[in-house]
Amino acid sequence: MSPALDRASSRVLAGERIDRSDAATLWNEADDALLSRLATHVRARFHAPDRATYVIMAIVNYTNVCVARCDYCAFYKFPGEAGTYVLSFEDVVKRIDVVAGHGGQLVGFNGGFHPELGVEDYCNLFRRLHAHYGDKLAFYEMTIAEFMFVAKRSKLSYDEAVSQFRAAGTRWITGGGAEVLDDAFRLRHSPGKYKVEDFYDAQRAVLEGGLGSTATMVIGFDETLEERLNHLERLRAFQDERIAAGRQLSSFLCWTYKPYNTELGGHEVPTQEYLRHLALCRIYLDNIVNIRTSVLTRNEDALLGLQYGANDFDLPTEDEVTQKAGATVSLDFEHILDAARRIGFTPVQRGAWQIGGGTSESASA
Ligand code: SF4
Repeated sequence: MSPALDRASSRVLAGERIDRSDAATLWNEADDALLSRLATHVRARFHAPDRATYVIMAIVNYTNVCVARCDYCAFYKFPGEAGTYVLSFEDVVKRIDVVAGHGGQLVGFNGGFHPELGVEDYCNLFRRLHAHYGDKLAFYEMTIAEFMFVAKRSKLSYDEAVSQFRAAGTRWITGGGAEVLDDAFRLRHSPGKYKVEDFYDAQRAVLEGGLGSTATMVIGFDETLEERLNHLERLRAFQDERIAAGRQLSSFLCWTYKPYNTELGGHEVPTQEYLRHLALCRIYLDNIVNIRTSVLTRNEDALLGLQYGANDFDLPTEDEVTQKAGATVSLDFEHILDAARRIGFTPVQRGAWQIGGGTSESASA
């Protein structure tokens, strides 16, 4: 073991915060067994060692119209193209009822940046959904990326947009649409979306305005280690700030890019790389209690993430965004849960709002 790896490992085992150079050392030098052991050590600070929680959920994609043109996206249609849609309220209800029929408790919404839909359109939809379902289901009503777009589209500050969503009954949005939070990465792949500082300004407004939010990350495009570490470093600093302010991000979900039918193309990240990254996230993000593994993009292999620091996962019933790019959804939940049991974890279905004593999130584009 090199002196640098010894220093990084000792820090983790002593409960100390690692720095960026330690993180790079762990990534470059630690073998899988060591990363798993260190991530499990950090996980044990927050969670029972043999327990994992999950929620059954779907992501309803209410429009595929989008002007952002991210090159890694297989889902969107530009306005005016054949095949565009906006779901009606009745269509949304039908999709939600399917999820509920599978025992789902949580519905996340995710759609494109539709140039003709503003804050009021979304608030109208959410108001009607709350009236229709009451407290029977929990909703994550949009991703932070969509929130930023619709606020700007409606010429509202983020604070004003948060107030309107709260008045419509919204409780949560998610940190979806983050991919890799690095401006060079964003310029290469999604220049029409947002800049990193703007993303955190919006997250801050959402949390300070009384809504819940989460953190996400997607790996497997062409991002460098430096870009991945930039994402983690900025996120950890933001969470430090939010903890001091009394309203923090509830969880971190990492999933992997699906390259099929996209302009960017490429290859899928091998499972072992995903697991190693998950472990690094658990170790580095020492101020985020809940680290979630992605069944939507890794199927039952995602459950191996429980040995690399994750403590929670979704059982998804649908998400057109990732399915269009190659994700497959299985409704054989017992088969997936057995993958957790086989490696010594007891999976426990939780309430949609209860994750490790806090709250939850959804996956989305
Ligand atoms: S990832 Fe989201 S914002 Fe980007 S093109 Fe696809 S739907 Fe639009």
